[in-house]
Formats: sequence, C-alpha cells, structure tokens
Amino acid sequence: MQRETSPLTLLDLDNLPVSRLKGVGVKKEEALNSIGIETVLDVLSHYPRRYIDRTKEAKIGSLQEGEEGMVLAEVLDVQTIRTRNRKKIVKVEVTDGTGLLEITFFNQPWRARQLQEEMHVVVFGKLDLYRGKGRMANPVVDLVGDKTGRIVPIYQQSGKAGLTTWELGAWVSDALHKCRVRGFAEPLPLEIRRQHNLVDRATAFTKIHNPTSVGETIEARNRLVFDELLRIQLILVARKRSFETTSHGIAHDIEGKFVELLLSSLPFQLTSAQIRVINEIKSDLQSQMPMHRLLQGDVGSGKTLVALAGLLSVVEGGRQGVIMAPTEVLAEQHYLGISDLTESFKVPCPENLMGERPLRIELLTSRISQRDRSRICAGLSEGSVDIVIGTHSLIQEGIEFRDLGLTVIDEQHRFGVDQRAALRAKASGKEIPDLLVMTATPIPRTAAMTVYGDLDVSILDELPPGRTPISTKWVEDDSEVWGKVRNQIQQGNQAYVVCPLIGDNETTQKASVEKTHERLVETELRGLKVDLLHGRLTGPEKHEVMTEFREGKIDVLISTTVIEVGVDVPNATVMVILDAERFGIAQLHQLRGRVGRGDVDSWCFLVSHVRTDDAVQRLTALESSTDGFELAEIDLEIRGEGTIMGVLQKGRNDLRIASLRRDKQWVELAREAAVELLDLPKGDEDISLLIQEVELLFGQEETEYLFKS
Ligand code: ADP
Ligand code: MG
Repeated sequence: MQRETSPLTLLDLDNLPVSRLKGVGVKKEEALNSIGIETVLDVLSHYPRRYIDRTKEAKIGSLQEGEEGMVLAEVLDVQTIRTRNRKKIVKVEVTDGTGLLEITFFNQPWRARQLQEEMHVVVFGKLDLYRGKGRMANPVVDLVGDKTGRIVPIYQQSGKAGLTTWELGAWVSDALHKCRVRGFAEPLPLEIRRQHNLVDRATAFTKIHNPTSVGETIEARNRLVFDELLRIQLILVARKRSFETTSHGIAHDIEGKFVELLLSSLPFQLTSAQIRVINEIKSDLQSQMPMHRLLQGDVGSGKTLVALAGLLSVVEGGRQGVIMAPTEVLAEQHYLGISDLTESFKVPCPENLMGERPLRIELLTSRISQRDRSRICAGLSEGSVDIVIGTHSLIQEGIEFRDLGLTVIDEQHRFGVDQRAALRAKASGKEIPDLLVMTATPIPRTAAMTVYGDLDVSILDELPPGRTPISTKWVEDDSEVWGKVRNQIQQGNQAYVVCPLIGDNETTQKASVEKTHERLVETELRGLKVDLLHGRLTGPEKHEVMTEFREGKIDVLISTTVIEVGVDVPNATVMVILDAERFGIAQLHQLRGRVGRGDVDSWCFLVSHVRTDDAVQRLTALESSTDGFELAEIDLEIRGEGTIMGVLQKGRNDLRIASLRRDKQWVELAREAAVELLDLPKGDEDISLLIQEVELLFGQEETEYLFKS
C-alpha cells in the first residue's frame, strides 16, 4: 500500500482503517466504529451537517438588545443551579474580548458536561438584557475548537460515543492531508464533468470539508450529490437494459376490436390520460420486449379500465390474463365490475360450431369451493379461462396457465426491489408474460425515478370530469360531524367511520372498532343501521358485511383501515376519520378516496385535537388538496426521503448528501448521464472505476448487471 503511487480510488480509501489517522487510538477507533465510521472513506464521507460563516460574526460588545447574532467566544465559567422546583439551569459565561455574555440553558443538564472552561464556541441566539447584563437563553451552541478558517464546518457529533465536531474535523483534515501525495482518482469522464459543470473529485472532497467560501461548498456539494445519484442510476439503468436484452417477451397481436367495443359501451369518455396510458401499454404489448410497467394513478383516476383494456387486447390475441388484488373484497369487486362490462364479449373458438364462445372470466379466492377451484384451474391450464381474478396469494400458489400473456397487480403500495426481482425470476424460461403493476400511492416523479428506475412508469394524472371534489374538514372533536352523517343518511346515502389506529395488530384494532361501535350506536348513531368491519373477521364475514354495505342495507360502516384500498361504493358520501393525526398523509388520502366516487357532494371529517407541528402540517395539507401527487410532494417534504428510500434500501451509503427534494434536477441529470455512460461503445471511455465504486457501495449483487452490459 505504502509504495503505491497511483491516485486513490474509493476502494483504496475503504481499505485504510481509521486507526491510520493521527490521534485515533483504540478508544477513539471504537467510538468511531460505533457510529459507523470504520475507514478513511467513511471519514471523508462524513459530510458537515452545516457551516458557520464567520464573516457573519458579531461582537458581544456591539450586540443590541432583542437582536439575533452569532458570536465566537471562549468559555470562562460553567455552573449548574437548581431551582426551587428542582429544575436544573446551566449558566455559562463567555467572552470574545469585547464583553461578557451569559448563556442560560433550561432543562439541558448535559450542557454542563459539554461546555468546559477555555473551550471555543460559536453561539447563535437572541440577546436580551437580564439585570443589566447581556444574556442569551437556550441559544444554538457549536463547539468549534480553535478553527481559524472563515467558513467552519460543523459535523454531526455524537455525545454518546464521545466524539466532538472538532475531533471529527481534525481527522478529516488529517485524512485529506495524507491523501494529498497520491491524490484522488477521478471516475467521471471529463466530458460529463464539463457538461454539468462539475468540479473534480479532489476538489469536491477538499472543499466540502475545508471551504474558503460558501460558493465552494455549493460546488463541492453538487459534485458529491451527482456521484451519489449517478451510482444509483447506473444500477437501475443497467438492470433495466439487461432485462430488456436478455429476456424474450410476447409480441401480442392487438389488432382486435375488444377495446373499441368496450369503450363504445361505456356511459362516459376516457380521460386523455387514460387514452395516453392505454396506448403506452398497447405499444409495450406489441413489442417483443417484455413489459415491466408501473402505473401510478390517484384514487379514482380509473386504473381498472386501463388494465382491462390491456387484458382484453391480450385475450383477443389468444392469450390469458390475470389480475391480482390485495384483498378478497377487491378481487370480488373487480370480478363483478369486469364481468359486467364484458357481458356480451365473444372470443374466437375454432372447435365450436359458431366459431366463437363467450369470454370466460373467473374469480379465484378462498371463498371458492374446492370443486369450482379445480374446475377453474383446469380451465386455466387448458386455456378455456381467459381472465382470472384473485388475491396475490392465491395466484402465487403455482397455478398453471396454458398461455399467460399479461399479469396485472393492483394496488401495490410498496413494490420493493426484492419483489421485482422475484417476479422477474419467476418469469424466466420461455416467453415472459407482460407485467403491469398499479398503485394509488403516487410518489413524486424524481423519487419514482430513483426507486422504480428499472421500470417504465405511466402516470394517470387526471381525474374523470364531473367528480365533485370531496370537502375535507379538520375538526377538534367529533360532536359536530354526526349531524352531517345523519343528514346524508336521511337522503339515502351512506357513511364510513374509520377508527383510531391503536397498536399495530389486528386484535387491538378490533378492540378499537368494537369500542367505537359500542359508543356510537348508543348515542350519536342511535336508530341507524350500523355494522363493523375489521381484520379479525373471517373472509366470509367480511364478504357479507361488504355486500350488505354495497347493497345499501347498512347505513354506517365502522371500520379499520381494511377499507383503505380500492373499495368502490359510490353511494357512500361521508367519511369520519377518528384520531386522524395517527395516520400518514398517503393513508388519509387513500381512505378519503373511498367517498366522492359518485357525482354528488361528499365530505371527509378529520377528527383530531392534536396540535403538534407534524399533525398540523399533515391535516392542513389534506384539507387544502385532493391531488395525490401534490400530497406526495408535501409528504416527502415533511418526512424526508427515508420512507421512500426504504424501498431501495440496498447500499450502505445510499444518500448521504443528496436529497430527492432539494436535488430534483440532479436526479434527472444523473439519469441521463447513466444512460449516456452505458451507451458508450466499449473501450471508448473507461467506466470501470465507476463500476468498482458501485460494487463497493452497493454490493456485488447489484453490480452484476453493470458487468454484463
Ligand atoms: P382507481 O384508479 O382508484 O382504481 P377505478 O378504476 O376504481 O379507480 O375507477 C373509479 C370509478 O371511476 C369507477 O366507478 C369507474 O367506472 C369510473 N371511471 C373510470 N374512468 C372514468 C372516466 N373516464 N369517466 C368517468 N368515470 C370513470
Ligand atoms: Mg383500483
């Protein structure tokens, strides 16, 4: 290692343990390891949390009362005082040579340990005068050591591990110093760097840690953000390519008349988004490449029809289709709806005297008797069943198709990498059936590009016209909502009440539903036909309740979130969600989508007395928007990428500096660059270093496709 002279790659840096850095002994090494820093690479990619711009520094002597300011000072004295009601106050006196400042911390006893005499600190807060002395209460304090630069990096420090920001800063500096001789290897072709105005890697690492101006931190950050996003896009693009080139799909013959017939029988016109997506799907079906498409569409955007158009095209071309739904209730609903729409359809059948037979659609759930089940399975393997509808689990149990052409998966919320891989693996062998996955939980475009970048994504971004938007209202307590509920029921409509989310299992949920039911039938809902639905009911019991509700025999359905997905009862016009703050934005939006499906006015009441920032943001978002994509953006804004990236969750280094919210344009540029790089003729530009980095950070499995291409 020592004698090497070639520039350092990330792999080289990852082979250097932190113990090689000045001042890292056994104890500090353990402390660093405990926060996930094991190698010099980890140190260098422990990026500053923020910076202090010392050019903005104020002097204690010239700060005015009521003014906010940042001062750099030395600690003179630290005292802990107990108040009469046993609270602890930490009083710290600091000076910068122009005056004395007293800092007080309430309820932060650990400050007495953090701050010690002679330490250099940066204090940011509002000055007030207390008994004639300048004072700041609970200011932001950073320990900076005796850093002299104008821009001081502040690192995420760890009190638990006993690591301070200036120690981390010192190790980073030492690491940078030690790297100076060999320099950093540059994995990006010059052309790409020029195109996007990116600094080289050495500059990026140096300036992110030791900038001399704010501008430099931005340049450094851009480069590091680009690198992170590029690595992910390389994986996704390579995976997509590899799938497309190595697998052999079905070039469907879709010249038939079924879709036209279907559309002409509808009492409404398709939205232009539906037409666009149906065409996208049709052209995928015609092509030899297997379709792997995700359809994102808000609640009520009409995904079922789009899927049905695909299925009918495939069936007419002589193949079979399948729809998998997440619940039996949904599978049944699809079965009823689709059977209805295709009642008079005939498929060609040479063996038959007429030369055709009725289109055969079957429902396969656990409610189907063993005899019917065998009959349906036989029909599937001999080819007399054209479309089968069931739940995820049933279809996965090794059912044989004679000639499966298209698989539709409905309402897949989290469609993880592993599931995607499993579905593809399943399809290996001969001709691969096309796949359409539908979800009503939209995620923003750039996030989709990062999470589902190996799929094609279609978006239904338009609701059918004539829908009256749901009026959503956040109320303190539920007393004011029942009048509206009764009034709607009087007019022949129906209502849902969603119970508080308690615990995370079905037994506690059941208790919540029963308690709410008990309370309401005795009081607010007395005299109405009220029933309940929860996950502890058996399949047949659930079916019965849903059927009665659909037929209008139940006025109010008190339920858990089992009604969250897909249920379509147009006559339901009111939903009351109790303890609404316990649900996430996406879930509330899903729930709310159960009403407003007809053409009359409908309401959603979010009942919550909780006033935390987070709850306020979520509930007001729901009040002010009914657009799923807009809400998804807000959700990403509030919760950060963690939840979205959870689907990817592969590399140990996924996104340390890039943010899907802030860096939208970089996601797109990285995508383009990944395509460009993988398109390069072999030997033209060397991307082997990039591949090595992806392998290092994401593991060999992910890189397999990169090597193939
Ligand atoms: P989702 O996308 O939530 O699954 P569905 O496919 O269940 O939505 O459609 C919701 C309702 O809208 C259904 O009753 C369906 O018949 C109706 N629908 C679908 N497309 C249109 C359209 N273009 N115009 C009017 N109504 C439509
Ligand atoms: Mg649906």
